[in-house]
Amino acid sequence: METHKIVIIGAGFGGLRTALELAKRKVRLKAFEITLIDPRPEHLYTPLLYEVSSGDLELSSDACVGELQSGACVQIDAVRNIIKKKNIRFVQATVATVDAAEQTLVLSSGETIPYDDLVVAVGVESATYGIAGADEFALPMKTLKDAFAIRERMFEFIRSYKDGKEKRLSILVVGGGASGTEFASETANFFHRMVDEETLLRQDYDISLVEAGPDILSMFPAPVRRCARERLHALGINVLAATKLKSLEANAVTLERGDGTTVRHEADVIVWTAGVKSLDVVKTWGFPVDDRGYVKVTPNFLVEGTKNVYALGDCAAFTHPKTKRRVPALAQAAVKEAAIVAENIARTLERKLPMSWTPPDRWVTVVPMGGAYAIADFGWFHLTGVLGYLIRKVADLQYFLSILPVGEAWKLWSSGAKVYRKND
Ligand SMILES: Cc1cc2nc3c(=O)[nH]c(=O)nc-3n(C[C@H](O)[C@H](O)[C@H](O)COP(=O)(O)OP(=O)(O)OC[C@H]3O[C@@H](n4cnc5c(N)ncnc54)[C@H](O)[C@@H]3O)c2cc1C
Repeated sequence: METHKIVIIGAGFGGLRTALELAKRKVRLKAFEITLIDPRPEHLYTPLLYEVSSGDLELSSDACVGELQSGACVQIDAVRNIIKKKNIRFVQATVATVDAAEQTLVLSSGETIPYDDLVVAVGVESATYGIAGADEFALPMKTLKDAFAIRERMFEFIRSYKDGKEKRLSILVVGGGASGTEFASETANFFHRMVDEETLLRQDYDISLVEAGPDILSMFPAPVRRCARERLHALGINVLAATKLKSLEANAVTLERGDGTTVRHEADVIVWTAGVKSLDVVKTWGFPVDDRGYVKVTPNFLVEGTKNVYALGDCAAFTHPKTKRRVPALAQAAVKEAAIVAENIARTLERKLPMSWTPPDRWVTVVPMGGAYAIADFGWFHLTGVLGYLIRKVADLQYFLSILPVGEAWKLWSSGAKVYRKND
């Protein structure tokens, strides 16, 4: 029997889970081989990225990078040891081109990899929408490298402040979605601790959160938004809603308020969480994309017009059959989609009809907001404070348990919990 070659591009939430879900179906798949390709050696648990970017800010990176990283990253080497037993091969590389007619893809090293089934799970990247100075002066928060760059910038300030070389710090977080809100809150919480320890004066820093829309956390119900605004206020964060960022320069930005007036705002550290866009390279692979560059898929995740190419996660344009809206770019959505993709690959090999997916109308989401405080939104009700925070910690552990053996998952979760607690 010929080996069926399944190639997965991207070892993020969607790609890694597709590989593991396929491995679960090994009896049905019979002779198969999975190749998982990603340029990064680690699988990043993005929900904890805000902890990495604001963690242990008084320590130099050399002293704590390993610790901070270890709580939010699963080394694919470690997963590889597990997945090796399940016919999964990991290739650390970037896919440059795809030739759907020849059923091959080419890595940036020039190596060609053939496939029978292809799964595209490449995610998205930060978007700055052509705003003048954004690429130059704003620090995105999307990858592990981004998180450390933000952390480094803040560490530099704190060191200079302690040495008396810096007098004040203005932090501006662009984007009032979950990531921006989490980062601003955690940073404020950390600065409060410094104020309590008398290593920082309250009047020597300010944190602002800018949102172009009428309110922060626009995807959440009104009671959650109200609760979040109260928490931000209590943390001393200046929320600038209905405010557009017009341009950025070194240490300042120009903002346009709702009434059309513009104002110059000092900003030493500008953290960008305002949006994402599809990867340019995906548009060159010849698959149909929507007007925003997301790969068009059928309700069973086949890329439109293909019989053996699937796309899922943030890079795919999957629309909810009832609401006709795009499924939100969430890790939990990518993970659920992966199970459908794996099932459909197995079904197609068995010559059965593929299944389609009806996403939930609402997603349970937890927004940590500094220290042991989070808002957990269940759609029809929400929980706040320590309870919300504990729900979040359980969700983190659940995720690690779903990709790692119990001992490894516990180690990762508890080391993260210990390191990130230091900030609280
Ligand atoms: C700061 C932050 C916090 C978040 N918090 C939450 C949260 O709390 N809850 C939640 O549900 N979601 C959260 N998200 C969203 C979540 O991270 C994404 O929805 C999720 O990562 C999407 O999974 P994916 O598999 O589509 O893409 P990703 O997880 O981004 O994985 C894509 C992978 O593809 C690889 N890749 C890209 N190009 C290539 C190429 N050419 N060749 C090979 N590999 C390639 C990348 O290296 C990457 O590893 C957060 C996101 C951010 C940025």
